[in-house]
Amino acid sequence: MEITDVICHVLLLPDLHAEDTDGSQDDIVVEIHTDEGIIGIGESDTNPWGARAIIESPTIHTMALGLKDVLIGQDPLQVEALWDRMYVGSMHYGRRGLGINAIGALDMALWDIKGKALGVPCWQLLGGAQQPAIKPYASLQPRGKDLDSYSKSLAEWAVRAKEYGFPAAKLEVTLSGPYAHHGLDEPAELVPEVVRVCREAVGPDFVLMVDVQYTWSDAGECLQTLKRLEEFDLFFIETPLQMDDIDGIAFLHDNLNIRIAYGEWQTTRFEFIELMDRGKIDVAQPDVGRVGGLTEAKRVCDLAADRDRLIVPHCWKSGIGIAASVHMAVTAPNCAYVEYLPAELCHSALRRELVGEELCMENGVIPLPTQPGLGVELNRDTVERLRSPV
Ligand SMILES: [Mg+2]
Repeated sequence: MEITDVICHVLLLPDLHAEDTDGSQDDIVVEIHTDEGIIGIGESDTNPWGARAIIESPTIHTMALGLKDVLIGQDPLQVEALWDRMYVGSMHYGRRGLGINAIGALDMALWDIKGKALGVPCWQLLGGAQQPAIKPYASLQPRGKDLDSYSKSLAEWAVRAKEYGFPAAKLEVTLSGPYAHHGLDEPAELVPEVVRVCREAVGPDFVLMVDVQYTWSDAGECLQTLKRLEEFDLFFIETPLQMDDIDGIAFLHDNLNIRIAYGEWQTTRFEFIELMDRGKIDVAQPDVGRVGGLTEAKRVCDLAADRDRLIVPHCWKSGIGIAASVHMAVTAPNCAYVEYLPAELCHSALRRELVGEELCMENGVIPLPTQPGLGVELNRDTVERLRSPV
């Protein structure tokens, strides 16, 4: 089989809110076509125009190949060899960040092709299932103009997630800083007050995580507030310090009785090794597209298992990324939960409509996928409707 074409779609919600902290408003979706008529699809949670440019760019020289150029004419079933060719061929400008995000979307599509060609779900190609099903957690990020309205709304959402059948939910409690949602601006020291309202609303028998989205730049100041979260029995605290403060993250690990989770932005296994070994994180959160695709995400899971760390993948995109996340998660015995936003609780048309039939929660778990490849297909009407004009 040969790859004959690579097509990129940049998709965008028509009512984009640039002041929101919400990556479900845009997407880059790739299609890889083959001479046997099999088409693989993938996506990545990144700047979609940048990723498209990296994929479609013509080759400049031997150290700066265009990713599409690397793939055309190749056998799509040699997925890991193609990952290496893309990585080595784009090393000059890629290596981390956007270059790897773009490889991630393509790698996802290659695994989709391989599963379809062999008639098996992707998880079977990634070493087989180590778990019979995977637990999803609901990511909750309501809008609120001040502390009171935000706390009440978040608590209502948490109760709704519990009633909906989720075993766990993550509270986005970013009260200030560059990634505060929708203009919220309250003192970061008040994070425990918001968590208190939510814990009281859902009761003691529901798993809660908290994401503060890189609120603090000073580890000592951060620790003072986080110590006040210890009483709420949290499963983890996500990204409290800026992501390059690896020694600060280790300091938090050494002084806090809550698991520390990082990894949603990290690319390649090399950045996860640094986070785990120097940063001492307890929970690694690879986003399958961003980290470099299923090939690289699986390597991260294995490295985390070697170190007795948990995996809880990040996923805030469409049904494509959710499928990839679940296929990876069931192959990892150390994967505790997957991030999962049910289409019914999400305002984004990309999340709700980009794929047709998709993986869903049943009785509090997402069962093993059964369809070949990723098991999801693009809704062509949605692709046409949400295609970015630029
Ligand atoms: Mg996060």
